[in-house]
Order: sequence, then C-alpha cells, then structure tokens
Amino acid sequence: MTTTTRPIALFDIQAQQSRIRAELDRRIAAVLDSGRFINGPEVAELEEKLAAFAGVAHAVGVSSGTDALQIAMMAEGIGPGDAVFLPAFTYTATAEVPLVLGATPIFVDVEAETFNMDLADLARRVAQVAAEGRLKPRAVVGVDLFGLPADWPAIRGLCARYGMFALDDAAQAFGARLHGSRLGGHAEATALSFYPTKTLGCYGDGGALLTNSAERAALYRSLRTHGEGGSRYEVLRTGMNGRLDTLQAAILLCKLPLFEEELSARARVAGWYAERLSGQVALQAQPAGAESAWGLYTIRCADAAERARVQEGLKAQGIPFGVYYPKPLHQQPAYAAAHAAGYADAPPPLPVSEALCHQVLSLPMHPYLTEGEVERVCRAVIGAL
Ligand SMILES: *Cc1c(COP(=O)(O)O)cnc(C)c1O
Repeated sequence: MTTTTRPIALFDIQAQQSRIRAELDRRIAAVLDSGRFINGPEVAELEEKLAAFAGVAHAVGVSSGTDALQIAMMAEGIGPGDAVFLPAFTYTATAEVPLVLGATPIFVDVEAETFNMDLADLARRVAQVAAEGRLKPRAVVGVDLFGLPADWPAIRGLCARYGMFALDDAAQAFGARLHGSRLGGHAEATALSFYPTKTLGCYGDGGALLTNSAERAALYRSLRTHGEGGSRYEVLRTGMNGRLDTLQAAILLCKLPLFEEELSARARVAGWYAERLSGQVALQAQPAGAESAWGLYTIRCADAAERARVQEGLKAQGIPFGVYYPKPLHQQPAYAAAHAAGYADAPPPLPVSEALCHQVLSLPMHPYLTEGEVERVCRAVIGAL
C-alpha cells in the first residue's frame, strides 16, 4: 500500500478540499442560483460564525487581509503626521498600509527567540518619536508571526500610556489562543486574511476585521462600501471597495466546520517537529500562555551558510521549504525613505530582524502531514546541519 511516497507539500489545499468537495459544490451552486454575488446572505452568516469562533462581538468580512488593515487604520483617521509602529520582520502588507494612508511606518526590531516584536525596542522607539515631537505616535500594529500570538497585554499597556490604537495583524494566526482566549479580542481590532495558504483560507482573496466595539464595526461596514451611510446614495466618508465576495464567504462556510480539528492537527504536527528537532536547531520559542495557530513552522539556523546547507539537503529529497522573509522591511527599496523619515537623526539599528532574514527557514506545515512525512523532513534537516 505505502510503497509510493506522495510528494510532501509546503501547504496542502487539496487534501482538505477532497473532504468537503460535495459541500463546496452545493454551496457554490446555491450562490450561482441566487445571483447575489455581492452582499449575499452567506457573508452575514460567515460574519456571525467568525465572531462566535473568535469569541468577539463583531466580525466584518472584507476583501483581503491588507484591506482589513487599511480599513482599520482609516477608521481611526490615521494619516500624515502619524507614526505607526510595526515589526521590521513581517510581510510587506503590514508596512504598506500606513504609507498608503500618508502615515509613517516606524520599524521595530523583533526577538531572536519568538520572532515577534521586541517590546523593549518598541517602548524605546515610541519614547524617542514622542520626544522628538515631529510625528504623533498613533498606532501599534502587532503581528502574530507564523501563528504565534504577540505579547498583547504588554502592547495594550504601552498603547494605553500613549493613547495609541492597538491593531492585531493576525493574518497568519487565526485560531491561535493567548491566555486561554482566541485572537480577536486581544487588540482593539484584529485583521484576518483568508488568502488560500493561511490557517483558514478561501479560494481567492478575502479577509475580516474582528472587534468588540460596535462603533468600530459600524465604521468598518461603511468604509468597506465606499463610506456609505444609511442608504446606498449617502456617502458619509472616504471609503473604498473592500467587500468580501459572497462566493468566498460560501467557501469559508464549508471550511469553518473543519477548522478546530485542523488547528489541533497543526499543533500535533508541530509537536512531531519539536520532538525531533529540539536540541538540533533553534525552534520558534513558544512563551507560556501562547498557543500558536502554526501558520508556518519556522526554524532558525546558526547562519546563512548552515541555512544554505539545509536548503540543499531538502531540495535533494524533493522537500519544499520557504524563506519568510529574506529581507527586513526597512531595507526594502519601497520603505527606505519612510524608514529614514521616522527620526530626526539616523534610525536606530534593527540587528535581530536583519540577522533572522539570513537564518530562518519554514518547513512544510499543514493539517494533513503524517508523522512519517515529518520524520522525512527532519531527517533531511538534521542530516544537513
Ligand atoms: C498574508 C498577510 C497579510 C495580507 O493578507 P492578504 O489577504 O494577502 O492581503 C498581512 N499581514 C501578514 C502578516 C500576512 O502574512
């Protein structure tokens, strides 16, 4: 039976699809029959279920994780003269949004152990920007990198001291828990992405905002529909076209019933990796109270040369891998000017973010990996160290 080994996937969308194909066909057909491709009843049904899953009062479906971040910042009126603090070691979308709105992203270093924002560095940079007085500290965007919750109580505490907005970029972390409760209510607003390879993904682009604030939820609904008011032809504010498609909502409704079980499977896979790799190579540290959603399984090699050896070893075995991220954001051409503009003098250095870009390697992670497959990946990694 098991003489042929199936190729190991970095992410696996097909195994899941085969479990729910009949339900997908049924729900997609229902949308096709209804013709309600925009704002169909599936969107509201999904919003209710997402809010219940995350244990928050409101969920608002939007067109992508990036638009979720943008709508959340637009709702706070963030723009020119505002400083938005965010990690230098994250996906570009986190930093792009403040720039699009005319605000200044201030890059914060991360911890070598958790890869999440370094709270001491954050506090120093907020104090420096506040003391210089050129920009107003307005918001912190915390990222739960690779699925691991950031230190939200500490971020919230700092935000409260400076009157800043706390926004959770949980694009990689939907389903994660912190101190017993799911991400969604740990910041004032939480942005989700349903990009196909995220922990809960649709078959295209999609996203959502979670919040416990009724005022914010109402603003998000208005902003995602061109800033409309009580009627379609009353425009109250500058908004955008940021809606979630009915078809994508229908697809997510088919996947949501599997999600809890898939999160457990991801945690089991992470456990298999940790059993075999701990002591051999540095793993993403899991602080007490944090339960990762395991969006990605990322190891930290000693240096670029060791990572290159591991990459070669995996390639030789036909095992896929990813490098998230090969360059810190402050070194990207698109952000260099904004990075310099954040400070009166030279920006303080970001040594950990710069080092991690040469060390990190993401291994296959999805709920349908078997222990035997994890064993094969780990043998290839250990053999190449
Ligand atoms: C994927 C991702 C986003 C953007 O989500 P999209 O749905 O692709 O727009 C934002 N932030 C982080 C950290 C991400 O990983």
